[in-house]
Amino acid sequence: MSARTTKLRVYDDTKALFHMPDGVIYLDGNSLGALPLGVAERVSRVITAEWGDQLIRAWNSAGWYAQPRHVGDRIARLIGAETGSVMVGDTLSLKVYQALAAALDMNASRKVVLSDTGNFPTDLYMAEGLIATLGRGHQLRLVTPEEIEASLSEEIAVLYITEVDYRTGRRHDMAKLTARAHRLGIVTVWDLAHSAGALPVDLAGTGADFAAGCTYKYINAGPGAPAFLYVAPRHADSVRAALSGWMGHAKPFAFELSYAAAGGVERMRVGTPPVLAMAALEAALDIWDRVDIAEVRARSLALGDLLISEVERGCPQLTLVTPRAHDRRGSQVSFAFEGGYAAMQALIARGVIGDFRAPDIMRFGITPLYIGEAEVLKAAEVVEDVITGEVWRRPEYQVVNAVT
Ligand SMILES: *Cc1c(COP(=O)(O)O)cnc(C)c1O
Repeated sequence: MSARTTKLRVYDDTKALFHMPDGVIYLDGNSLGALPLGVAERVSRVITAEWGDQLIRAWNSAGWYAQPRHVGDRIARLIGAETGSVMVGDTLSLKVYQALAAALDMNASRKVVLSDTGNFPTDLYMAEGLIATLGRGHQLRLVTPEEIEASLSEEIAVLYITEVDYRTGRRHDMAKLTARAHRLGIVTVWDLAHSAGALPVDLAGTGADFAAGCTYKYINAGPGAPAFLYVAPRHADSVRAALSGWMGHAKPFAFELSYAAAGGVERMRVGTPPVLAMAALEAALDIWDRVDIAEVRARSLALGDLLISEVERGCPQLTLVTPRAHDRRGSQVSFAFEGGYAAMQALIARGVIGDFRAPDIMRFGITPLYIGEAEVLKAAEVVEDVITGEVWRRPEYQVVNAVT
């Protein structure tokens, strides 16, 4: 077997493939994944050997032009998507906009976009902006996550939700909701920001219409890494791209004066791809190519259970907001605590890095590629010290930073 295909055991073989500063237990890979060691070398090689030496020729000679589709195919494997159905580029905010625009076009006689209050704000803001731009009287309807299923009806044009709630870690049943939506003629747009690289996703099997996600969270491709967009192959040749940039044109280098969409998911490209960021993504995917996402998931659930039981035992002041049931949660554990912001600052000062989401949620991301039992046990100990010792009440932990 080649080095590229030899399987890696999750954590035992993969931990050494990441850079981790001494004294840090990193439980924020659900927000920004840790740095894979291969990234610096890969990006540096693309800079010197491709950009430096090949200059403009590299679009062909180094394969830059085809890269968004090739990288999309590697992500497809992680999310159960068909080859040729995933395009990489832009940011997730733009990709959900594109998906929602295409989905609304497919269901033009209906006017309601259904989402939930657990969705990430940018998804909701982008929907508001799109609705205003379209000016066709669409409405964004928000219900609680628990009310989503009962709110599906023949009035709804598009079901537009995130599988795993960024705040609580609660997970929707994608297969069930997609099937129910389809029976009612509803088009589905799934946000996989907290799913891709966190748990197995089966887009082809569930029959989802559109899905999008980012690569800087669980996939570990680095700050500002490009997003991805999935379009079900049955729709890919007929959907409207909405962001009709030149790279999604059927013949970009014919420089025609009017737009004609490329075939398939290629039309979801917009402009020039971020080649350097994509090189970092490719290096991150070198690890994902060699691990079994089912093994990642099994470890994540076991580590999540361990963190829950240790923190609940040591800190009754914290209230678990993540569902305990394995099939109802993603790959993070969240607790509500009134002093949550300050407590998280105190944890970070002690090397345990999680994060905080308003109004009172302390989040701990579980990333089994580089987090194991020892790290979870140590983190739980530090949480207990900070909470029971009331360390978080110190004035230095009350200062609120721009990014929480
Ligand atoms: C992280 C996240 C985003 C971020 O969007 P960007 O455009 O990459 O900043 C969007 N949606 C969800 C659900 C997220 O979790």
